[in-house]
Amino acid sequence: MSQLEIKNLHVSIGDKEILKGLSLTVNQGEIHAIMGPNGTGKSTLAYTLMGHPNYTVTQGEVIFKGQNVLELEPDERSRLGIFLAFQYPVAIPGVTVANFLRTAINSRRRVENPADKGIPIPEFRKLLIEKMKMLKMDQNFAGRYLNDGFSGGEKKRAEILQMATLKPEIAILDETDSGLDIDALRVVAEGVNALSGSELGVLVITHYQRLLNYIKPHFVHIMLDGRIVESGGPDLALHLEEQGYEWVREKHEELAA
Ligand code: ADP
Ligand code: MG
Repeated sequence: MSQLEIKNLHVSIGDKEILKGLSLTVNQGEIHAIMGPNGTGKSTLAYTLMGHPNYTVTQGEVIFKGQNVLELEPDERSRLGIFLAFQYPVAIPGVTVANFLRTAINSRRRVENPADKGIPIPEFRKLLIEKMKMLKMDQNFAGRYLNDGFSGGEKKRAEILQMATLKPEIAILDETDSGLDIDALRVVAEGVNALSGSELGVLVITHYQRLLNYIKPHFVHIMLDGRIVESGGPDLALHLEEQGYEWVREKHEELAA
C-alpha cells in the first residue's frame, strides 16, 4: 500500500516561516480533509507538495513510495502517482480536453517505455467515454478547448476528469477559491466520491465546511499557524461548523502559555 508521509515540514516564503512542523500521513483508500482559518498555510502546503518554486522547504520530508518527493520535479511527482489539482487552471485555446488528456497519458506511457507509440485512439476513446459516464459528464465536453471560457464548475470538471483518466494513487486538492459556487463544490465532491476507494488516497484542503457535506472524509485535521493542531473523524468538521475556530485558538494558546 502506498502512503504519502509528510514529516515535520517547515516551509518559508522569502524569510517568513509559514509551515512550522507539519506532519501528516495519508494512506491509499483514505480521505483526509485539512481545514483551517485563512492565512494558516493551507495553500502553502498544497503549493509545496506541487513543487512551486516560491516555497522553500527548510526542514522536514515528504515521502511517497520510498522516494523523497521534494527532490522531484512536478512532472516526476505526477508520474509517481501523485495528482495535484491546480487552484487556478490555465486556459489552452486550441487544445481540446480530449487532446490534453491523451497527451498527458502518452507522456506518462513514454516515461515507462520510450518506444511506446501512445495509447491507441479507440482505447483512449473507450476510456474517456467510460470516465465521463462515471462522472455524469456531457460527451461534448471532451471536444471543448481546455478551460477556455469554462465556468468555475467546468474547470473543476476538467480537473476531476483528468484525475479519473490519470488514475493517481494520491490526489491533493486545494479548494480555497472563495469564488467556488455550490455547483463547483458538488462537482469536486461527486468526483472524489466516485473515484475514491481502496486505490486512491485523497487530501482535500478547504476552509469550506460545506464541502464536507458532500465529501465524507475519514479524517479531519485542523490547521492553525502552520501546524496541524487537532485531528479527528468527520464529527470534528461538524463541531467546527457549530463552534468556529475560536475554541481551537483558545485551547492552543493555553497550551502554549
Ligand atoms: P491559507 O491557504 O491557509 O489561507 P496561505 O498558505 O495562502 O494560507 O498563506 C499563509 C501565510 O503566508 C499568510 O500569512 C500569507 O499572508 C502568507 N503569504 C502567502 N503568500 C505569500 C507571498 N507570496 N509572500 C509573502 N507572504 C505570503
Ligand atoms: Mg489558501
